[in-house]
Amino acid sequence: MKNLIDALEKNSALTKEEFTFLIKNHDEETDRYAALKARKIADDIYGKDIYIRGLIEFTNYCKNGCYYCGINCTNRDAERYRLSDEEILLCCEKGYELGYRTFVLQGGEDPFYTDDKIAAIVNSIKKKYSDCAVTLSIGEKEYDSYKKFFDAGADRYLLRHETADDAHYRKLHPESMSLEHRKKCLYDLKEIGYQVGCGFMVGSPFQTAENLADDFLFIHALKPHMVGIGPFIPHEKTVFADKKAGTLKETLFFLSLLRIMEKRVLLPATTALATIDSTGREKGILAGANVVMPNLSPVGVRKKYKLYDGKVCTGEDAAECRFCLERRIESVGYHVVVSRGDYKA
Ligand code: SAH
Repeated sequence: MKNLIDALEKNSALTKEEFTFLIKNHDEETDRYAALKARKIADDIYGKDIYIRGLIEFTNYCKNGCYYCGINCTNRDAERYRLSDEEILLCCEKGYELGYRTFVLQGGEDPFYTDDKIAAIVNSIKKKYSDCAVTLSIGEKEYDSYKKFFDAGADRYLLRHETADDAHYRKLHPESMSLEHRKKCLYDLKEIGYQVGCGFMVGSPFQTAENLADDFLFIHALKPHMVGIGPFIPHEKTVFADKKAGTLKETLFFLSLLRIMEKRVLLPATTALATIDSTGREKGILAGANVVMPNLSPVGVRKKYKLYDGKVCTGEDAAECRFCLERRIESVGYHVVVSRGDYKA
C-alpha cells in the first residue's frame, strides 16, 4: 500500500485499478503514512498558514431536487430565506473587520437572483473591498452567465462535481440534471479564468470504491485550484434520511490522497467534517487540508441553511466563530493568516 502512496506522490496519478485497490484496502498504517506525507507537502508549499474564507449563505431557495440536500425544492418544511444586498454587504463588513479577505457567496439555485443581480452584488463587494477575493457557489449556469460574473469581478467558483460516475450521478439527482452539464460548467469556468473548485461527498449513498477512483481521476484531469470534500450526512426530510453518513477515517484519508496527488491544491477542512467529529477540522488540517470556511451568515438564518442534520456552528456569531477557529487551528500548530489565500502556482 505504501508503494502506491509513493507512486501517487511521484507521478501525481495512479490507474483506476490502483486507486480502487488503495480505497478498498487502506488500513490505519496506510492512513498515517499518507497523512504524514500530505502534511509535509502542504507545509513545504503553504507553511503553517491556514487560509480562511467567510461563507455567506445568502439564499436557501433552490429549483433543484438533489436527493441528498436538505434545501432541495421538494422539502416543504424548509423555511426559505433570502438576504438583501445590504445584509450581504453587512456580512462582508463584519468579515473584513475579522480578517477575512475572501467572501464566498453560496446558495441554492435561486431564480430570483438573475445574472444581473448576481453581477451587481459581486461588483458592489469588489468595489468596497478591492483587496478581497469573491467566490461564487451558486450552481450550474451557462457560459455567458459565468462570464458576466467574472467580468463583474468574481475570482473563484466552487461547483462540486458530486460524483464523476454517470450511473452514480443518476442515483443522487433527478432526471432534470446531468453529470455532463455539471462537468461542462467546470471546464467553462476554467476557460473563463476562474480559480475553480470541484469536489464530492465521502460516503454518499450508493458510492463504490470504483466511483471514488473515478473521482480522483476526474480531479486529476480537471486540475482544479480547490477541491471540497466532506462526509455525506443524512437530512431527515430527504429520501436519503435513513442512509449512513460518510466516516471521518475515509474523509481524512481522501484529503491526504488529494494533497499528495494535486500538491498545490487549496483543500478545505469542511463544516461537514466538523459536524461528524468535534475536532474534525483540526484532524483535517493534520491530514493535509489548508483552508477553513467559517460561517459569516447572520445568526438568524444559519439554522435555515440546513443541508444536513446536526450542522455545527449555527449558533455563534461571526466573531465567536472566528476566535474559536483560531484557537482550534493553533492547537495543532498552524495559524490563520489575513490574506486572500490564492492558489500558489
Ligand atoms: N447550489 C450550489 C451549492 C450547493 S451546497 C451548488 O449546486 O453547487 C454545497 C455542497 O454541499 C454541495 O455541493 C454538496 O456536495 C454538499 N451537500 C449537500 N447536501 C449534503 C449532505 N446531506 N451532506 C453533506 N454534504 C452535502
